[in-house]
Amino acid sequence: MSELHKFIFEGLPVRGALVRLTDSWQEIVKRRADNAQTGAYPQPLRAVLGEMAAAAVLMQSNIKFDGALILQVMGDGPVKLAVVEVQPDLAFRATATLEGAVAQGASLGEMLNAQGQARCAITLDPKTRFPGQQPYQGVVPLQDDAGRDLPDFAAVLQQYMLRSEQLQTTLVLAADDQVAAGLLIQRLPVQGAGNLEGQAGADAEAMDEHYNRIATLASSLKQEELLTLDAETVLRRLFWEETLARFEPLAGDNGPRFACTCNRERVGKMILNLGQIDAEQLLQEQGRIDVSCEFCGKHYHFDAVDAAQIFTEASRIASGGTQAH
Ligand SMILES: [Zn+2]
Repeated sequence: MSELHKFIFEGLPVRGALVRLTDSWQEIVKRRADNAQTGAYPQPLRAVLGEMAAAAVLMQSNIKFDGALILQVMGDGPVKLAVVEVQPDLAFRATATLEGAVAQGASLGEMLNAQGQARCAITLDPKTRFPGQQPYQGVVPLQDDAGRDLPDFAAVLQQYMLRSEQLQTTLVLAADDQVAAGLLIQRLPVQGAGNLEGQAGADAEAMDEHYNRIATLASSLKQEELLTLDAETVLRRLFWEETLARFEPLAGDNGPRFACTCNRERVGKMILNLGQIDAEQLLQEQGRIDVSCEFCGKHYHFDAVDAAQIFTEASRIASGGTQAH
């Protein structure tokens, strides 16, 4: 069962979280493999998408925010898009779009940042928006200041957290076909730090040392260990000399789990956006409009009557008529 463990280092402004996505991640891998149109994800992409899924769950669990967290990479290599969406209750879904072949053993840069133009974006989309309110979005490139490709997705996010949130973060991420897992350690901002010279300066130095020690311990975790060891063993091995305050683990219905938010009404809106002329052309060519959800693979069919209904309904609303309920 997929699980999330949150903890703080007692007396220190440092928090952490460990996530292991098992059944939920396997479901995503399987649905893609079962999709006759796309086929399975190539192995290097599975690894990156799994790492993104683990990271997105960690980030969503780390913020107090009532809305979806969307972590996506807009790529310029054979992978055009990789996206993970996590709801506040930790239900999540993930997908990626390919245009071209991914070489065996391809790196993050080779897959997504072939021209150096890829962007990683984190969007917070509030559940209820005020009129005119836009979702918050932060964006970082997939390379460092010197233009070198970052080695892995953990490095991309560490850079994001430092640049966009001014938060020192240490991340270890790993994924195979069975498990997508991640460990996050983050330094919390200290209220009023630096207001008093001297004492505060000494405190800050001591806190630097604490954070650096914990970050070094976290970084010593190998991807292989993260994938194969259970959460208790990982935390005990890494932090046995630290004092951890643990929160109740989140698993099952309260934990991270696969769920798709697609439905027929939303697919109908996509057809509406397509426009009546294109929709009618599709109907003429194929007899019906088939749309499959890129996240879960579910098929939706619309025949000529369904499509006509969508456009009639839309024009009635547009002309000021009321919807019959
Ligand atoms: Zn779906």
